[in-house]
Amino acid sequence: MAAFKRILSRGFHPRWCPPLLHYPASILNPLAMRPIKALISSAALRHNLGVVRRCAPHSQVFGVVKANAYGHGLALAARALEAADGLALLEIDAAVRLRASGYARRIALLEGLFDPTELPVAAQCDLTIAVHNAEQLKMLDAAPAGARLDVMLKVNTGMNRLGFAPAAALKARDSLLAHRAVGQLTLMTHFATADDARGVAWQMEVFDSIAAGQRLARSVANSAAVLRFPQTHADWVRPGIMLYGCTPFADISAAELGLMPAMTLASEIIAVQDLRPGARIGYAGAFEATQPLRAGVVACGYADGYPRHAPTGTPVLVGGIRTRTLGRVSMDLLTVDLTGMPGARVGTPVVLWGDGLSADEVALAAGTVSYELMCAVAPRVPVIEV
Ligand SMILES: *Cc1c(COP(=O)(O)O)cnc(C)c1O
Repeated sequence: MAAFKRILSRGFHPRWCPPLLHYPASILNPLAMRPIKALISSAALRHNLGVVRRCAPHSQVFGVVKANAYGHGLALAARALEAADGLALLEIDAAVRLRASGYARRIALLEGLFDPTELPVAAQCDLTIAVHNAEQLKMLDAAPAGARLDVMLKVNTGMNRLGFAPAAALKARDSLLAHRAVGQLTLMTHFATADDARGVAWQMEVFDSIAAGQRLARSVANSAAVLRFPQTHADWVRPGIMLYGCTPFADISAAELGLMPAMTLASEIIAVQDLRPGARIGYAGAFEATQPLRAGVVACGYADGYPRHAPTGTPVLVGGIRTRTLGRVSMDLLTVDLTGMPGARVGTPVVLWGDGLSADEVALAAGTVSYELMCAVAPRVPVIEV
């Protein structure tokens, strides 16, 4: 037992782990680490905001920055989107950090408050809060004396996730209008099918019946509605995915919409294997070479946020040339086909998605959407503004 303890303590002895000061600076520099990086283009974010402005010239814009700005980094996105009229997100801690960093425009909490203890924080930080159910409506009664919060009343027009059903929404509207703690009131709803053939008319009909005859501000349009349905633009649009340069539609690409990818997930080849026919790659040997094949091993895996479900054939760029993944994606590595790329070697740059290869296309191959790919980029991947 004593020997065991000695071995254990030896393992953690400071001798084996000098203080950080003793390491060369390059070790602590994210640029010099494992080659995977998420490169974020603030120019692309600004450009895409410009596309929103051109589509909805008469509306104010909430840039939707929930989920760490869809994986792009909240602080970076907030700077790049400084020309937006406000930012919308769900996480109150992130909203507080935005305020603390000096962000002075409107900040909306799209799911409102989860607990009455958040009320004084929301009031102090001048957050606009969604109210989507009776519990949240009741919470407002606990607002500190003198506090006034801008409220977005969420109407359930058919998505059936959050929001008051139409009759209840009318009652909620009236109690909010009369409430001592409520400043400006905005009516909002969210579309379930703005990106497909069912469109928005069926939900707009319900929404208009609530909004009719009122001078209240309205906010309904997500990216799909910004791009396709001008009649939904109203006072405040709420684009997310289009700001990041991806398409909300299955049938129109981001490039066709004039959007630029804001995130490039980039890495490098870190090993090359020459395979003979019959050789298999990776876990479960899920890919088998049928002819001699050069395979490149890329420093990127599902622990970086690359989808494990991406099958053999998922597109990838190696040295700017389009090729395909081979076999299973593992935690830290994936393999690519280097056939016809004699120049590819250790150190050759790889783009998993972004510049030159849309995240939408990779998502389609992996059975998901670009939203999920970008949000899933893992904390261990350095996010670098370019
Ligand atoms: C996420 C979200 C949006 C943005 O949707 P996109 O499809 O990314 O444009 C807008 N409104 C609400 C309420 C949201 O939660």
